[in-house]
Amino acid sequence: RHFRVTAPALANFNKLNEQDLSHFASILPESSILSTVRPFQSTNDDLAPFNNDWMGKYHGKSQCVLKPRTTEEVSRILKWCWERRIPVVPQGGNTGLVGGSVPLNDEVIINLSNMSKVRSFDPVSGIIVCDAGCILENLSEYLAPHKYIMPIDLGAKGSCQIGGNVSTNAGGLRLLRYGSLHGTVLGLEVVLPDGSVMNELKTLRKDNTGYDLKQLFIGAEGTLGIITGVSILAAPAPASSQNLVLSLESYDKVAELFKFAKTHLSEILSAFEYWDRRAYDMVCKHTGRKALDESEVGNSQAFVLIETSGGSKEHDEAKVANLLELLYSAEEPLITSGTLSQSPSQFTSLWGYRELIPEAASKEGKTYKYDISVPATEFASVVDKVKKELAGKGLMQEGREGGWVRNVIGFGHVGDGNLHLNVIANAFSADIQAALEPYVFELVASYNGSISAEHGIGAMKTQHLHYSKGQVSIDMMRRIKALFDERGIMNPGKVVEGKAS
Ligand code: FAD
Repeated sequence: RHFRVTAPALANFNKLNEQDLSHFASILPESSILSTVRPFQSTNDDLAPFNNDWMGKYHGKSQCVLKPRTTEEVSRILKWCWERRIPVVPQGGNTGLVGGSVPLNDEVIINLSNMSKVRSFDPVSGIIVCDAGCILENLSEYLAPHKYIMPIDLGAKGSCQIGGNVSTNAGGLRLLRYGSLHGTVLGLEVVLPDGSVMNELKTLRKDNTGYDLKQLFIGAEGTLGIITGVSILAAPAPASSQNLVLSLESYDKVAELFKFAKTHLSEILSAFEYWDRRAYDMVCKHTGRKALDESEVGNSQAFVLIETSGGSKEHDEAKVANLLELLYSAEEPLITSGTLSQSPSQFTSLWGYRELIPEAASKEGKTYKYDISVPATEFASVVDKVKKELAGKGLMQEGREGGWVRNVIGFGHVGDGNLHLNVIANAFSADIQAALEPYVFELVASYNGSISAEHGIGAMKTQHLHYSKGQVSIDMMRRIKALFDERGIMNPGKVVEGKAS
């Protein structure tokens, strides 16, 4: 309850009625409509998976979920909602972490899961064109026999959709190597709020024909239109991949290790991930899995996963062996111990360990997630400062009335300067929330960082955008929003609110 963000002004919106439902039923088969509005008889429980977010933090009250199968259907639905001034929330896999994918009120949810076809794949260029509702992992599986990989990978790959990834401009585990979606997405098909279809579904690497409109939708979090098709450049599957987990005495040495890895692995370095000791212990506790032997872990306070991928097994293995030799023979060692994967299953298992952190956090308690960009040298001190702030307010005292914080952990993508700060409490509570915000955002601003490195703004940070963007930029965003969606029906209350000043 404490997280109900100020609801958007609904004065100009209309309530869904039986006539709307009859109209939707003339567009979609009954099996593609869930609604508690007559003549449909779905229950609130039927709608619960669409109304509640992955973290259990944000809760909508939508009475209607529509699952179109084609761009044409999306277009007809939006045209109707535009004319009737009915607000909508586009939804992919509903794995977003900022409350963007569920309604703030009773908006109609347009869920893309029925749009899951690969439209084309060119094995020469590696360009894949697909429906926006394709699940990321399914696309990876589709590409594997063609010896290509998706340029993006993340822990939620089994549920998140490519349209959701594009809409959040998700970063993930491969960004260091393949760059952001702003570079790898070549084209988009978007249904605009009034139902018109903007076909920018290009398969061109080069296209300098004026404004690059698709970029506006990458990271727009469903506030400008509904992405229905995506054209994306897949990367050739590496002929060889290795990974290793290293433990370090303290965080102080992580940045130096990153520099060292870049120097000695150069072109084959493809990921450099970090997690702290508290995150390590939490994964052990909740999954029973250990990345390293107990004896190797000792008092280590920091852990790093390095991945390499390249075109020649012999050459790449020699580079990693050289790196390890240098690390172990150094007079002032950067690392305390490490494990190098020896088989494909161990490779997957080491990655699995890093990917299990969010899941372990959700088992530990209710998680306040901050996804921030700060200088890589400051990751541990940001976590420590937040911990101190909470302790200073007595919020880390177990059993405290009104909720207490169980754990504060830090992990993330060192290579991208992106820290995931997770504050895990026994329950979401107003006083913990008040202690964290705006404290965390002010802290980030003091480093000239970003309050959202990759998860987006959603409902969570709409009112805090100014910590990372100037007034002129926010005004420009409002004007762009108004240009595409002057009736404000697209995902109201998310990302940017209000009128340009
Ligand atoms: P949803 O959650 O359904 O939606 C997200 C936003 O996009 C919403 O605002 C929604 O309205 C909008 N949207 C969805 N589909 C469309 C569409 N077709 N058209 C227009 N708007 C649309 N993120 C990272 O960046 N890096 C990570 O490493 C990472 N790891 C994660 C690990 C876990 C375990 C989880 C649960 C999440 C993680 N995320 C990560 C969060 C990430 O934002 C999402 O997982 C993913 O990108 C969202 O895709 P989705 O299909 O679930 O979208």
